[in-house]
Amino acid sequence: MPRALAPYERPASAAAGPGSCSAIAGAARRRPEQQLRGATVTRRLFTGSTVWAGATCAPRPAWLLVEDDRVAALEEAKQPPPPADDVVELPGCHVLPGFVDVHLHLSQAAWFPHGGDGLEWRSLAEARHAVRVAADAAPQAPWLLFWRVPRFAWPDGRLPTARELDEAAPGRRVLVSTLDMHRGALSSAGLAALGLADHRAGDFGEDVTRDRRGRPTGEVWEAAYGVALQRALADTQAQRGEQGAAAVLAAEADRCLGYGVTHAHDPYVSPDLHGRMLALRATSRLRLSWATGSPAGMLSRPPGPATAPDGAYGDAGREVKLFADGGERAAFRLPSRAVVDLFAGAAAEAWRMRATGPLREALRRKVILRPGHLHTPYLRYTDTELTDLIAGYADAGVRLRIHALGNLAVAQAARALRTAGIPPGTATIDHLLLLDPATADLVAASGATASYQPGFIPRYGDMISATRTDRHLTAFGARLLQQAGVPLALSSDYPCGALDPLHNLRAAIHRRRPSGRQLQPEQALTQSEAVRAHTVTAAASLGVPGAGGLAPGQPADLVICDGDPFQPQTRVTQTWVAGQPVWRAPDLTRGP
Ligand SMILES: [Zn+2]
Repeated sequence: MPRALAPYERPASAAAGPGSCSAIAGAARRRPEQQLRGATVTRRLFTGSTVWAGATCAPRPAWLLVEDDRVAALEEAKQPPPPADDVVELPGCHVLPGFVDVHLHLSQAAWFPHGGDGLEWRSLAEARHAVRVAADAAPQAPWLLFWRVPRFAWPDGRLPTARELDEAAPGRRVLVSTLDMHRGALSSAGLAALGLADHRAGDFGEDVTRDRRGRPTGEVWEAAYGVALQRALADTQAQRGEQGAAAVLAAEADRCLGYGVTHAHDPYVSPDLHGRMLALRATSRLRLSWATGSPAGMLSRPPGPATAPDGAYGDAGREVKLFADGGERAAFRLPSRAVVDLFAGAAAEAWRMRATGPLREALRRKVILRPGHLHTPYLRYTDTELTDLIAGYADAGVRLRIHALGNLAVAQAARALRTAGIPPGTATIDHLLLLDPATADLVAASGATASYQPGFIPRYGDMISATRTDRHLTAFGARLLQQAGVPLALSSDYPCGALDPLHNLRAAIHRRRPSGRQLQPEQALTQSEAVRAHTVTAAASLGVPGAGGLAPGQPADLVICDGDPFQPQTRVTQTWVAGQPVWRAPDLTRGP
């Protein structure tokens, strides 16, 4: 199956020599296709490889017998293998359970190839130029969409204003999204389409930035950004038609399989798109599930269980996503002395860039000083509001997924789950980026699973270090959470983070920032812990099969790598779901 590659994803390399893992696997792998044509292979033996076996994901030389869609047996390589209808020899390869990504924005990321990628833009001037070029190139597009803008690395610090976007693309609807998908910039036509063009401008409070005369500047945050994104994607999908939109989603599902993801869980699908996701699940070989939320947008307050679609959400049960705090507007609490670090960090960044942008942005952040501590006032609910909302969904049998970046938000989420009496194992807290030991203990007591993204470290690690919050709190504190007894799921938050599970597993171990320095290396996981977090614990957190890892009776969802998954050159070469081959790397050793 050919694999569509987005320009911003690195291709899986299959440039292995003859006799290597992928070459031999290549010779054997034509046979499964016979079975797809109706032959009678039901028992398939995988031999010669290292298998990351069982619920502990401990690597060992072993053979693996798959019968129909399940693992039938797994034994040490020195044990004689049983008879099988087909033998797949994989010398030098590693076999891992399929990756379960519990936080993968498939339905949003699918549209990224249909917009402009801003990741390489280095300044406001570059952004304005790119918008101008795109406007000329796509005169019919209902929206000009730009993704992954790292404005924190720009000397200007800020996004373009509506007026600047209007100059670059007169009369057009433009949405520029930051890398973290919590802040954006709209042109005047974009603001008008959302009813935000005048002073009345809805009920978004501080989520819409205004000038001194009260007019929106074009900058939108959190809920207002989510509404803009929802509208822009809906208009873009409508222009493509039902079939076109289905093809875009199918291509994204295939892209996931190409990285060894066998189950993708989308943390937000608008109730309006529920049917389209059910249709995708019916036709794709990727296992797929999702959470619902407000029809208005990802970051808006969900209205309660009455509007949540009935029935299973793909391969998992019903789930809703809530945001306890924001993205850049994270709610955290630090000791008072940290106030010096917050501003010294921004000043150092400004000096490094020889620009005032970072300092100006830091001064926009609200900080409340109290005796003994400081905090950022960015909680999106009161304790009572959050507890009541959670309890309402739980009573209706809906699982909870709560975004909480800062320790203040994490503590609130954990408290609310406990107060509402949510049973252990039915809630997930996402991100937990900035944490302290007492908050980790609260999470453990709540019974929630933590979903964290070490893949952010190679992308945002320097930016986080520049705030100097990591001098007072753990950042991506995986070890802290594990020691507190919190089940840990590793996820990508793609497209905010990289999709590639191997990249994210390695980041959980090496924790290297873009500069090459490590971020709190004492928070690193071991290799087996990382694999477990991306497979076994992730499956358990969704209540789906796979929580036993590669063991008899478990689903035969496998990833075959052409070497040790923690070596940088290793790639996924085959992906299997329910005992069936669903993706293999293009075989570059054989010519066309
Ligand atoms: Zn996310």
